[in-house]
Amino acid sequence: MYLWAPKKINMSKVVIIGAGGVGRVVAYKCAQLKDVFTEIVLASRTVSKCEAIAQDIKKDLGVVIATDRVDADHVNEVVALFKKHQPRLVINVALPYQDLTIMDACLEAGVNYLDTANYEPIDEAKFEYSWQWAYQDRFKAAGLTAVLGCGFDPGVTGVYTAYAAKHYFDEIHYLDIVDCNAGDHGKAFATNFNPEINIREVTQKGKYFEDGKWVLTEPHAIGKMINYPNVGPRKSYLIYHEELESLVKNYPSLKRARFWMTFGDEYLTHLRVIQNIGMAAIEPVMYEGREIVPLQFLKAVLPDPGGLGENYEGETSIGCRIKGVRDGQEKTYYIYNNCKHQDAYKETRAQGVSYTTGVPAAIGAKMMLTGEWTGAGVYNVEEMNPDPFLADLNQYGLPWHELVDVDLEMD
Ligand code: NDP
Repeated sequence: MYLWAPKKINMSKVVIIGAGGVGRVVAYKCAQLKDVFTEIVLASRTVSKCEAIAQDIKKDLGVVIATDRVDADHVNEVVALFKKHQPRLVINVALPYQDLTIMDACLEAGVNYLDTANYEPIDEAKFEYSWQWAYQDRFKAAGLTAVLGCGFDPGVTGVYTAYAAKHYFDEIHYLDIVDCNAGDHGKAFATNFNPEINIREVTQKGKYFEDGKWVLTEPHAIGKMINYPNVGPRKSYLIYHEELESLVKNYPSLKRARFWMTFGDEYLTHLRVIQNIGMAAIEPVMYEGREIVPLQFLKAVLPDPGGLGENYEGETSIGCRIKGVRDGQEKTYYIYNNCKHQDAYKETRAQGVSYTTGVPAAIGAKMMLTGEWTGAGVYNVEEMNPDPFLADLNQYGLPWHELVDVDLEMD
């Protein structure tokens, strides 16, 4: 039962939850697309961060966006936020811990949903889609759409795969997602997005899909040099990344699917020390008479990823390398984007990783509001039409390139 009659809903009003590096970019991009996002509300736990972003947007773009406070750990607070602003869509760029409470609020208040990271329980470093896929019937019954994982990876990587499968292959067999950050922010150690989520992700065991089953590896046990366009060879490590789960499900012809990410030696050394001294732990410990979580404390002393942009140089290069068949012939295909940190900063005062996540989230939201992506239920991005989304990526800041039938070094 909706809290208000659907006819009263402003058809282009969007609420963004989360005012970190990614939230900043989403808010900028939505403000640049005022024809689609006619009203924008940026809400987060710390309202002063929303206000700082709103002021920058007013100064840079002359667009006024509204701000509000919400603790999205509580369904009733999110429902109250939706009831007050009556959006058609929420873009969730808070933390993965809030995914389910925000989805619950969407069901209660009749709001469509989009996010960039799958749900993760706060007390267990584990992420998988099962929790959010379990909302399928409820979203269907409510006539609402939820689009999951619409950042860059997950996000654009899924759309790239869908585009390749649609236009270049009869069957895709081998997929390597290759993610390089060749940027330098000048800090001894910093993470490119929320430190707590980032460290939980990269200290996990490696995992990839081969011949119908998942293979587990010790963290960073498999590494090799990968050649990235405009960057050159960089040491890249096999890690588990969430889009592998949905891509393997949605493309059953895949014989192997892996995810590679570059890490510098300095980064890995810091990470090892952080783990060895117990600072990556997520179980609470007693400190001066109160419980603290070491990883949350570490987050408080590490550089804010949202503030890395000013001195960040270099670029990211992220793409999909695919082998498969077309008309009985073996084919290879590589689709990728390179994004310069300085360009991202000039436009939004955020660094490249926030930019490459926030732009696809805003474009995914545009797809939903303009009716390019429709259907009641819970979807991963690769289930939607890739063509209009990729056309928009070209137009709004993340142009992509493709290489056909080249040697992709996918052994
Ligand atoms: P930040 O930590 O910079 O920002 C997170 C924001 O969410 C902060 O403003 C924080 O508020 C807010 N927040 C946290 N908890 C709550 C809550 N309970 N209620 C309301 N707001 C809350 O993170 P990033 O901007 O770097 O990342 C945002 C999301 O994007 C993450 O989920 C991350 O995993 C995802 N991501 C996805 C990528 C992709 O390619 N798919 C890549 C990079 C990130 P406060 O300031 O008060 O703490």
